[in-house]
Amino acid sequence: MITTPRQKPVFRFAPSPNGQLHLGHALSAFLNNDMARAADGRLLLRIEDIDLTRCTPEFEAGIFADLRWLGIEWEQPVRRQQEHFSEYQTALHSLIERGLVYPSFLTRSEVKARVTAYERMGEPWPRDPDGTPHYPADDRDRSEEERDAMLGSGLRHAWRLNMSRALDLIGEPLFWMETGDERKGEILAEPVAWGDVVLSRSDAPSSYHLSVVIDDALQGVTHVVRGLDLFHATSVHRLLQELLDLPQPVYHHHRLIVDAEGRKLSKSEGDTGLAELRARGLSAADIRSLIGL
Ligand code: GLU
Repeated sequence: MITTPRQKPVFRFAPSPNGQLHLGHALSAFLNNDMARAADGRLLLRIEDIDLTRCTPEFEAGIFADLRWLGIEWEQPVRRQQEHFSEYQTALHSLIERGLVYPSFLTRSEVKARVTAYERMGEPWPRDPDGTPHYPADDRDRSEEERDAMLGSGLRHAWRLNMSRALDLIGEPLFWMETGDERKGEILAEPVAWGDVVLSRSDAPSSYHLSVVIDDALQGVTHVVRGLDLFHATSVHRLLQELLDLPQPVYHHHRLIVDAEGRKLSKSEGDTGLAELRARGLSAADIRSLIGL
């Protein structure tokens, strides 16, 4: 009898080198490491560095040093998103060709002015789960001629998903399998809450949402373990997976580590930074107990 070898589960830790890692990242990295080991799986490290202005080689070196100090081992080679812009562009172009993505020309301050004027009249403007106002419909409804003329004149633009067209195309509710700390089981994806999300930025040839789903698929990731701050983003990821015909991993959104005021940690806070704690002589075991593992 021929038996096919069992595919090992694949986990990944995917930090952005735009600051120093803190205790929240340590929780994510430890959980990925521990769950991969328990499942006899693989652990990948992905450097999410599409933000060319904020990501630096120094922060990347800091990530490697912190993870080694925590005793975490990952497979080589490390995938760096900056080295894969052409793959994200190929996917973007397939969506443009299918009329699912359009160029958007309004600047952030133009959007803000529009929203403020609207809200002054007492009308609520829809916002996404992160609190960012939905993008106004102006660019989505332009004629093809007008759009081409604007692109031809070299105007700065991003590329956005036409959310209602994408949802019409899929035509059925989407779900994901969740094993995390708050909700478990089959979760209904609600991508409409995000409006017309950016898939390619005006200052980078991709976006977080687009690169993350492509990388997870190309790297064969079966388990996405990340903070609860990205729980709602999973709705967008499920939609993109359907549109691009990509497999869907299982998701595990874990609790967040908060500061004394109950706020999510940010990369600028020195006293929870891993480099600082390492310099103070703490061990990996100390960090585990600090974050309740
Ligand atoms: N790069 C993201 C971050 O540092 C994590 C993305 C993910 O795990 O999906 O917050």
